[in-house]
Amino acid sequence: MIDAAIGRIVRQRAGDRCEYCRLQQAHYPLWRHQIEHIVPKKHFGSDQLGNLSLACVRCNLSKSSNLTGIDPLTGEIVALFHPRIDRWEQHFHFEKAIIEGYHANRSSHHLGPE
Ligand SMILES: [Zn+2]
Repeated sequence: MIDAAIGRIVRQRAGDRCEYCRLQQAHYPLWRHQIEHIVPKKHFGSDQLGNLSLACVRCNLSKSSNLTGIDPLTGEIVALFHPRIDRWEQHFHFEKAIIEGYHANRSSHHLGPE
């Protein structure tokens, strides 16, 4: 359980938008964005600010406890986007209303069940 004060800091740092797809909380009031562990607890991720990010429900469920994915173009196992280490602009771009990943994060859209 994340401390409420820590949760407020994470939300403020993220500008109240999902750190993966950049959906603003105000544009999706039905479900509150979630504080998620970038490195999940099951992989010994900590509750420290450096391991926490704000994610919309869809991104959080898609990422789940994964640390890597398979690049659909190359078949390589690649690390998923890390909001505290990676720069969003170097891993994604907006294509009309669709976010597409560059190179290593192409797999980010293919984490869910097929
Ligand atoms: Zn999202």
